[in-house]
Amino acid sequence: MTNKHRYKQEILIMIGNDHTTAQLLHQKLRRIYPSIGLWTVYRNLTELVDEWKLMKTNGLTEHTIYERIKPSHGHVICKLSNRIFDINIDMIDLSWIEFPQGFTLEDLHISFKGNFGDGPDSCKGKVST
Ligand SMILES: [Zn+2]
Repeated sequence: MTNKHRYKQEILIMIGNDHTTAQLLHQKLRRIYPSIGLWTVYRNLTELVDEWKLMKTNGLTEHTIYERIKPSHGHVICKLSNRIFDINIDMIDLSWIEFPQGFTLEDLHISFKGNFGDGPDSCKGKVST
């Protein structure tokens, strides 16, 4: 197995069912591959997105967020810890939204920012739905 394939496999394992950034993945990968550069992590993440194994979302935090391909869902973001939780948005009623005439909705991003208490660890252990 080439390093490239090893990196990709390692990235998918590290992400698991979570949300993460290239910077956090880089820190974790350097424990296994000390010479791996951030640029290599970005390149592998881009390829995994192109291969439909990962999706990336901008605007949730100050960094681009990567996660496995999942059915459409929303996000709850803890502003104190930057942890991100998936939420089910299937029941949200969009019928009251007046889209411009001729517009066809193809993609939807819903996120809620808040906190779970008074400290950065107050959301630790909360399970996403
Ligand atoms: Zn998510």
